[in-house]
Amino acid sequence: MTTTPYWLGGKTELPIPGSRRQGEPDVTIIGAGVTGLSCALTLARVGMAVRVLDTRGVAAGASGRNGGFALRGGTPAYDEAVASLGREHAQGLWRLTETAFARMLELGGDAFRQVGSIRLAASDDELEAIEREYEALTADGFVVERVARLEPPLDGLYAGAIHHPGDAGFNPAVWMERLAAHVVGAGAEIVVGTVNPEALPDGTVVIAVDAHTSTLLPELADVVQPARGQMLATEPLPTDRYGIPHYARDGYDYWQQLPDGTLLVGGCRDHAFAAEATAGDDVTSTVQSGIEALIASLVDEMPTITHRWSGAWGETLDRLPLCGPVPGRGGVWVAGGYSGHGNVLGFACGELIGKALLGDVRRELRLFDPRRPTLTAGP
Ligand SMILES: Cc1cc2nc3c(=O)[nH]c(=O)nc-3n(C[C@H](O)[C@H](O)[C@H](O)COP(=O)(O)OP(=O)(O)OC[C@H]3O[C@@H](n4cnc5c(N)ncnc54)[C@H](O)[C@@H]3O)c2cc1C
Repeated sequence: MTTTPYWLGGKTELPIPGSRRQGEPDVTIIGAGVTGLSCALTLARVGMAVRVLDTRGVAAGASGRNGGFALRGGTPAYDEAVASLGREHAQGLWRLTETAFARMLELGGDAFRQVGSIRLAASDDELEAIEREYEALTADGFVVERVARLEPPLDGLYAGAIHHPGDAGFNPAVWMERLAAHVVGAGAEIVVGTVNPEALPDGTVVIAVDAHTSTLLPELADVVQPARGQMLATEPLPTDRYGIPHYARDGYDYWQQLPDGTLLVGGCRDHAFAAEATAGDDVTSTVQSGIEALIASLVDEMPTITHRWSGAWGETLDRLPLCGPVPGRGGVWVAGGYSGHGNVLGFACGELIGKALLGDVRRELRLFDPRRPTLTAGP
């Protein structure tokens, strides 16, 4: 049994592709996850000197430890985003992630399986909620489908479902390895090093550490808080039932089956909210046994569990990230706090900061303004 993520094959990070040392960088990026590498690629491609610093290496954080779901949008469902942000901004957010995901596909190729995702309703209330999301997406021209009939055993467990055809399952290790190769190929350097809050690098700095945001920016301790997600992998199952990523209970349960039959299942954080409010990457029996019970409900015979692991992300009160200049700190930018939904949004935010540093300030940045009032008061 190993507690390293299934994806990383027994390691805690991916090796850094050989990058040549440069002189002093134009921009230093802290964090070699999807956000930091996306920002680095945007800048390096146009000739900026970029240094990415990470305590451990590539994909050591949530980017190498997540469930492998590439979902458009943000953590709030589309109808909730319309209610809290207004229709125009919600549309802008969804389009931003659709465009970002198209670029991820170009860069990551077959690391992604664009099979869509399935949002299941575990109760009649959740069935009404997914119907509201379906109606709101359809009204605004986004593609979404009702699932006419659930197959066993889901038909006995869930009240209904919708399918988001544009979403994907992906292999985080393959994706991050390819993204890092693009970054180095564009001329950026990636180096191992821990940045201390008292000594941020000089010059322009981008902090892209999601769950660890408040370690480097203590003034944001009440704004971005760590949350842990735990996962399990099983031996390959004999039947292929869950090739499309599935999630239920507002994302508190999620699972997907890989082409070789391996089942990956995560969630149950709501079994122990207080204990899971941490950036630690160990596992607990309370949450792991919740996930095991979920697996037992999904398969005919309990398979052998081969991996148990966890990772952490940053949560905000309004469940949208911070992406922009840090108030009161000239030259320091932050992107993080994706509230568990950073695989595509993190890539998008890394690009938004990279473009802004090149003078192309996109309007979507306003949605993620680190000074917005909903970060402290809620939506
Ligand atoms: C179990 C789990 C399931 C998830 N499921 C989904 C999902 O279904 N869909 C989705 O969209 N998102 C999901 N996420 C969230 C998503 O993985 C993250 O939001 C995203 O990967 C964040 O990327 P990042 O680059 O911002 O941060 P990270 O990938 O966390 O990278 C941050 C990096 O910063 C480095 N670092 C930290 N502090 C320092 C320091 N002081 N100095 C130098 N380096 C430092 C770390 O080593 C790390 O490599 C999940 C996350 C987890 C853990």
